[in-house]
Amino acid sequence: IFPLEGRRVWVAGHRGMVGSAVVRRLAREGCEILTVPRAELDLRRQDDVEAWMARMRPEVVVAAAATVGGILANDTRPAEFIYDNLAIGTNLIEASKRNGVAKLLYLSSSCVYPRLAPQPIPESALLGGPLEPTNQWYAIAKIAGILLCQAYRRHNGCDFIAAMPTNLYGPGDNFDLASSHVLPALMRKLHEAKLAGRRTVEVWGSGRPLREFLHVDDLADGLVFLLNRYSGEEHVNVGSGSEVGIAELARLIAEVVGWDGELVFDAGKPDGTPRKLLDSGRLTAMGWRPHIDLRAGLRQTYRWFLEQDIAAA
Ligand code: GDP
Repeated sequence: IFPLEGRRVWVAGHRGMVGSAVVRRLAREGCEILTVPRAELDLRRQDDVEAWMARMRPEVVVAAAATVGGILANDTRPAEFIYDNLAIGTNLIEASKRNGVAKLLYLSSSCVYPRLAPQPIPESALLGGPLEPTNQWYAIAKIAGILLCQAYRRHNGCDFIAAMPTNLYGPGDNFDLASSHVLPALMRKLHEAKLAGRRTVEVWGSGRPLREFLHVDDLADGLVFLLNRYSGEEHVNVGSGSEVGIAELARLIAEVVGWDGELVFDAGKPDGTPRKLLDSGRLTAMGWRPHIDLRAGLRQTYRWFLEQDIAAA
């Protein structure tokens, strides 16, 4: 077991959905949490990252910083997605080696798996086939991060590990309809329909695709579990293990929001992959379980959403 108590833990990307959840979760570990605003440190600048780390001397690094976005953003800004994420990954990992970081946890993403991966997707499916073309730029950078951790472990004896979260949701999510994922998009659309007294809301696609969702606070708990107990070359899937159809998800969110109109499925919009479920058997075999069921997680996320300015729109 690798205890975090009393250690200096740097959460890179602490303003994001994942990083902020990790900061909240680490508050219970008795460690010293280090963060730095983006305006003060650009993680894409190698010299700056190395200088900051040499000065701040973190012992543990959670690499939760990334340039992220939905399908539209990935498709229209590919250079940003591949360059930013490669730079952030290499800089954090190399600077961690140079500064003798005792443990680094790199955050990857389930979209790095091949488009036609077997379901549920085991860790071994990585690099087994072609990627989903729309997010290949992001995926290649995130795959490079996983391999960097493996290479630094083999070559330099660094205890660097990688985690592969499934689709996440929760406080801090992106609710911008042009770039958001389905869960925050539907929450916002249904909320706005309720405010406007609208009786119909459009759901993209057939409503039949299945998706797995994990609350970001569960992810943060799983990440602390991995920091404490996992030390190995292979990345580890972190999922909830339960799937929900898009139509059922929409109905659940409508219930949470308190809107009882009619859902209209727009077959003109893409369904995407029919199913995306991680096999999280390795992690559960180590003894970890998620605790937040989808309904409770949706309620909590909606409360958070209502506290933000976006909800007033
Ligand atoms: P994916 O998991 O990578 O496919 O990304 P998304 O979360 O964007 O989409 C998941 C599924 O939800 C797809 O089948 C979408 O067509 C469907 N969906 C239904 N309504 C919406 C919506 O308003 N926004 C988004 N992003 N997806 C929607």
